Formats: sequence, structure tokens, C-alpha cells
Amino acid sequence: MNQVKCQRCGKVIELNAKTARKKIKCPHCNLIMKQDKKTDRRLMFAKFAYVFAFILIVSLIYSLFREVIDDLFSIVIILIAGLVSAGTSDFVADLLVFKIFGKSYIKSDD
Ligand SMILES: [Zn+2]
Repeated sequence: MNQVKCQRCGKVIELNAKTARKKIKCPHCNLIMKQDKKTDRRLMFAKFAYVFAFILIVSLIYSLFREVIDDLFSIVIILIAGLVSAGTSDFVADLLVFKIFGKSYIKSDD
């Protein structure tokens, strides 16, 4: 659980992995808040670390089977690995940051 204090009404908003989106709305006063810069930076770092780890693991597995895989097939594997890691990185980074650090929010301008 992640708790955020509303910056307008001061009430505590309980967040879980599903409700902790980029922007949240206070259920008490409807104030819209967005993730602060610290949370954004952590998300960027988590995304980078995840893609890096993903590629590293795929490369390791690939190097074990290099002799039995032909060139065309290896290109396909690398392409799919890139697509899968890019396609899941937002979701995974979001979950990691939420679970490890929790998210903090500031009042949104728009
Ligand atoms: Zn509020």
C-alpha cells in the first residue's frame, strides 16, 4: 500500500498497484495530482534497468545455444526480445517503483 496526502484537502489517499497511475484524483475533493519528478526519475531508471537486464538474460541464453541457431533465427530472437522488453517495460517499471519506493505526487497544473 502506498499512501499519498492530498495537497488541497489534506486527506490521505490509499493507492495500490492498479490505482497508482501517472495521474490520480483525490476522491474527497477531486484535486488532480501527477507523479513528482523523483518518481518520474525512478520510473525512467527502472525502465532502463529492466530493458538492460532483459537483453542481458536473452544474450546469455542465446550465447549458450549460438552453435545450434542459424543467423536468420538469431535476428528474429533479438527482434522479439527487443519488442517484448519495450512493450512490457512501462508496466514492469511502474510496478517495481510502486513496490520498492512507493510513488509520490504533486499538484497537477492542467
Ligand atoms: Zn483532496
